[in-house]
Amino acid sequence: MKLAMIGFGQAGGKIVDRFLDYDDRTNSGIVRAAIAVNSAKADLIGLDNIPEENRVLIGQARVKGHGVGADNELGAEIAEEDIDEVQNAIDQIPTHEVDAFLIVAGMGGGTGSGGSPVLAKHLKRIYTIPVYGLGVLPGTDEGGIYTLNAARSFQTFVREVDNLLVFDNDSWRQTGESVEGGYDQINEEIVRRFGILFGAGEVGDGQEVAESVVDSSEIINTLSGGGVSTVGYASEEVELESGGGLLSRFTGEGGGSDDDLDAANTTNRITSLVRKAALGRLTLPCEIEGTERALLVLSGPSEYLNRKGIERGRKWLEEETGSMEVRGGDFPRQEPEVAAAILLSGVTNVPRIKRLQQVAIEAQDNIDDIQRESEENLEELVEDDEDELEPLF
Ligand code: GDP
Repeated sequence: MKLAMIGFGQAGGKIVDRFLDYDDRTNSGIVRAAIAVNSAKADLIGLDNIPEENRVLIGQARVKGHGVGADNELGAEIAEEDIDEVQNAIDQIPTHEVDAFLIVAGMGGGTGSGGSPVLAKHLKRIYTIPVYGLGVLPGTDEGGIYTLNAARSFQTFVREVDNLLVFDNDSWRQTGESVEGGYDQINEEIVRRFGILFGAGEVGDGQEVAESVVDSSEIINTLSGGGVSTVGYASEEVELESGGGLLSRFTGEGGGSDDDLDAANTTNRITSLVRKAALGRLTLPCEIEGTERALLVLSGPSEYLNRKGIERGRKWLEEETGSMEVRGGDFPRQEPEVAAAILLSGVTNVPRIKRLQQVAIEAQDNIDDIQRESEENLEELVEDDEDELEPLF
């Protein structure tokens, strides 16, 4: 699937930058065009792969290139005011060769949190191709204002996009790491998961054609109907033999004994990967029962993929989710691993979002109280007790 990616704000820009790097490394061809939009000049300069002419600085008249300081209402306002500048950059890309837009942003900050829903609304008015969002939730330790920003942005963003894919930083936080180092790993996780998913069906030169191909329309159909999506992923190392033959090795299960590659093994490996992917850590933790639609993508050397495994995986997913719309297919790649990526679209039982909203409401109440108190305190300080003094004007 070919995407026009727009990274909004710092996190969004960095993640799209990383997608370009992933595309380059894996030759997956998913990023047809990449644009970064920000109100902070320094963040745009810090990007490595997004072409300079595709970096759009907005809000110069208001914030002079210094960012909006986690004020997402201001982020939304300047996006609205400078939407033409963003559109000018989009006009330069071949949108007729693109299957969908993907707007990527951290939802806890200001520029991306406020600006992405504005851009989504604008794009949906102009283009007929789908507009998807990839929204990153802040860690719970980031504080009330980030949570409040994310909760408000989430509500708005879901409404404006054709589907909101969510990644929760909180589930992926590593302890004892620098924030930057942590983000590096998290961003790699994001591009791997979404890269496999969107990469399915993009067959490049010299790549094999899948037996039962997942193509763009299947991804689009899984995402259509809107709502919120999460992605599960699991992989297992396999060995590619230099002579062209293959040996399999079960890593972590029985100490890596070599095994004859046979159909039963292949099927079992696939079904166990599907279970691990769906029941393991999702990009947004949630209950998978009640998921409206799902897509299963199995990637790896074609000798390690078979129709029976995918069929069984699909059936199992149908039972677990209760969905009648579970699609599946393979994505052959000459990599020494077999991986299952599962897109769960239209999830509704998400306790994490309910908690986020609860904390956001508390933060909002606290902010209101503090503001009221500080107005009263200032009044008390400035006014003399008996009201004997008069201001000049
Ligand atoms: P903006 O520039 O005003 O849009 O705000 P940022 O993008 O800097 O930050 C918004 C939120 O994104 C933060 O609260 C973090 O949760 C998250 N964030 C910032 N940088 C990264 C990153 O590189 N990767 C990920 N996954 N999240 C990030």
